Amino acid sequence: MSQDIDKDRDVMIGLEIHVHLNTKEKLFCDCKVPTKESEVNSHICPRCTGQPGSKPMLTNKAALAKVIKIGLAVGASATKHTNFQRKHYTWPDMPTGFQRTCSGSGTKTTTVGGEFMGIRIEGNHLEENPAAWDPVTGELDYNRSGFPLAEFVTAPDFRSTSELRDWLKEFILVLKYLDCINVEYGIKSDVNVSVKESDFSRVEIKNVNSLTNIVAAADAEIIRQRELCSEGKPVLQETRRYNDELDETQFMRSKENAQDYRFTPEPDLPNLVVSDEMIEEIRATIPELPSAKREKYSKFDLKAEDIEVLVSELYLTEIFEHALDKKLNPREVGLFLRREIPRVLNYAKEDFSDLEKKDIKEEITKLIDLLGSDKIAYTTAQKTLEKLYAKKFDVEKYINDNNLIQVQDDSLIEDLVRKALSDNPKAVEDHKSGNTKSLNFIVGVVMRETKGTAKPQTVNKVLAEVVKEF
Ligand SMILES: [Zn+2]
Repeated sequence: MSQDIDKDRDVMIGLEIHVHLNTKEKLFCDCKVPTKESEVNSHICPRCTGQPGSKPMLTNKAALAKVIKIGLAVGASATKHTNFQRKHYTWPDMPTGFQRTCSGSGTKTTTVGGEFMGIRIEGNHLEENPAAWDPVTGELDYNRSGFPLAEFVTAPDFRSTSELRDWLKEFILVLKYLDCINVEYGIKSDVNVSVKESDFSRVEIKNVNSLTNIVAAADAEIIRQRELCSEGKPVLQETRRYNDELDETQFMRSKENAQDYRFTPEPDLPNLVVSDEMIEEIRATIPELPSAKREKYSKFDLKAEDIEVLVSELYLTEIFEHALDKKLNPREVGLFLRREIPRVLNYAKEDFSDLEKKDIKEEITKLIDLLGSDKIAYTTAQKTLEKLYAKKFDVEKYINDNNLIQVQDDSLIEDLVRKALSDNPKAVEDHKSGNTKSLNFIVGVVMRETKGTAKPQTVNKVLAEVVKEF
């Protein structure tokens, strides 16, 4: 941890964030990573349960690449030679008695340095997750054991919990863009909190899961420390845990009982060597990040909140940028994506992960092409999207087979308007006697005749002209 203390600050918060990486297999065995629905102890083998005599397989390369990718994305540099160490501790969640980690004295973290939204990052390393232990029942679930984690250590640069919230939200979004986070398991973090009133006596809150709880834990701890100070009591340097039901932090252990992890090099794993080629290959897979996309999209006639909805899902940005490449109308396409896709998901009570599973991105892109080039009406695009979400089909074929291409021929619309006016003399009379709404009926007739494929703007324009002749 950085020791430089800015005395002008009211609070100081630092994080040690563990990111669950979205690899297919675990870090040192070929067990598939579980989901939260997996049956207890269903994704295990002698390696990830630490059976006597079992040895780790070679490090999962995808996991290593993902840790490096996150580091590079925040401006860190990759360490070319590093090694796993054994971090010793005795706890039921770790049957080997040690955790394999690229951290601790004696090694270098997987990536070093970097900065994200003004918060300095000190290091980022690969390590294995322990098992899940229930202290009440004593039961162990080894599904999580060996799950690859990236651990990020930030400097204590956060000045408020609102800054912490904004930062975490953006950091998680970047992790999704990088395709590095297992969204179901997300992040967990140790949170270091201190306040000016105690001269920044540091307290650590262990293992807080989720963005909401990390922010709530920091808030609760700041309140606790300030109360102590106002009562003239010292803030002791200690480790605490967050109880989300009571919204308070609780004592775990004091600094005097700080653990000595006795780091030793892991003899069962070869050193990790990362070549320049590998680093450049990984760098090439980093997409344009949300901040750059926001800036790019701000050129279009879209509100900041519309842009935020687009940027919040890489899925939407990909379709939107396809439309930009094709020189389609950014405002029309942007608003359609921003409004209609969340609407359809909301109606189905599903989210973007469900949308991705449906494998209809290409069909949505075709729909956007038809809408953006004015070939179909907005309502046609809306209805087609609903159908598409229910069941995948070929959009172009569907539009053609059902004659849903927008009527481009103004003379056809003129003929239909003329006929509708002749057939409905009452509407014409009402119009002449000053009923401004009577022509809406005629627009409705024409829209029905064209099965909704006439552009309402064109019908209105033609109608305003033709009605003068009556
Ligand atoms: Zn295993």
